[in-house]
Amino acid sequence: MSVLEVKDLRVSVETEQGTKEILKGVDLVINEGEIHAIMGPNGSGKSTLAYTIAGHPKYHVEGGSVKLDGVEMLELSVDERARAGLFLAMQYPVEIPGVTVSNFLRTAKTALDGEAPALRPWIKEIRESMEALRMDKTFAERNVNEGFSGGEKKRHEILQLELLKPKFAILDETDSGLDVDALKIVSEGVNRAKENTGLGLLLITHYTRILRYIKPDFVHVFVDGKVAEEGGPELADRLEDEGYDRFLRLSEAPGA
Ligand code: ADP
Ligand code: MG
Ligand code: MG
Repeated sequence: MSVLEVKDLRVSVETEQGTKEILKGVDLVINEGEIHAIMGPNGSGKSTLAYTIAGHPKYHVEGGSVKLDGVEMLELSVDERARAGLFLAMQYPVEIPGVTVSNFLRTAKTALDGEAPALRPWIKEIRESMEALRMDKTFAERNVNEGFSGGEKKRHEILQLELLKPKFAILDETDSGLDVDALKIVSEGVNRAKENTGLGLLLITHYTRILRYIKPDFVHVFVDGKVAEEGGPELADRLEDEGYDRFLRLSEAPGA
């Protein structure tokens, strides 16, 4: 049973005004096969959490830990984190000129496993995943993220998720810019990964819309760099009705 444990994570960034503390002691425990939604207003530090776990150099860890099965991820390189079983879908994925989706996926898989996947089953797997995500065959020969629409980027993320089979994935605002049909297809892919490989998921979202298709086991409300409230799926329903006002008032209260 795999587990991802975030403990008292504190993170700062350098700004023109000096060092700014963004994460102020985050605690989370995600077990294999669990879906945790992180919800919260803009600027509350959700993406900072995702980037820090992924090892983005801009984010300075001031304290705390992120352990996958007891191994400290914060001491590992980005590649080593991926090999340990972490997957982060960037909120703004980068273009990789001259590298096709097909080559990118095979290179990533080879790097993760330490050996190239056997060709025929691999090609079959890619084809099946692409069909399930309703992606055209020609997509595999396009350059990574070059001219991808918002929906294509998201499908490509989920394609990676299905093929690379990480233990834990962090999806940041995967729902942004998707129409309902694309959202359903992308959500089905995530649900398949949970079913087939016991994927544990940190699903970061501002809006509750995606939670109609990907059912969270736990919901954490993020305010001002900390988890302000936790609960089950009913908490997301409440946020849908009430918004974040109540939490924002809390964080502005004197002494809070
Ligand atoms: P969210 O994803 O919840 O909208 P972010 O993690 O993007 O929140 O941002 C949290 C806060 O940290 C914001 O006030 C933002 O301006 C600030 N911040 C995030 N990244 C940087 C950065 N690289 N440089 C300066 N400030 C940053
Ligand atoms: Mg934001
Ligand atoms: Mg964000």
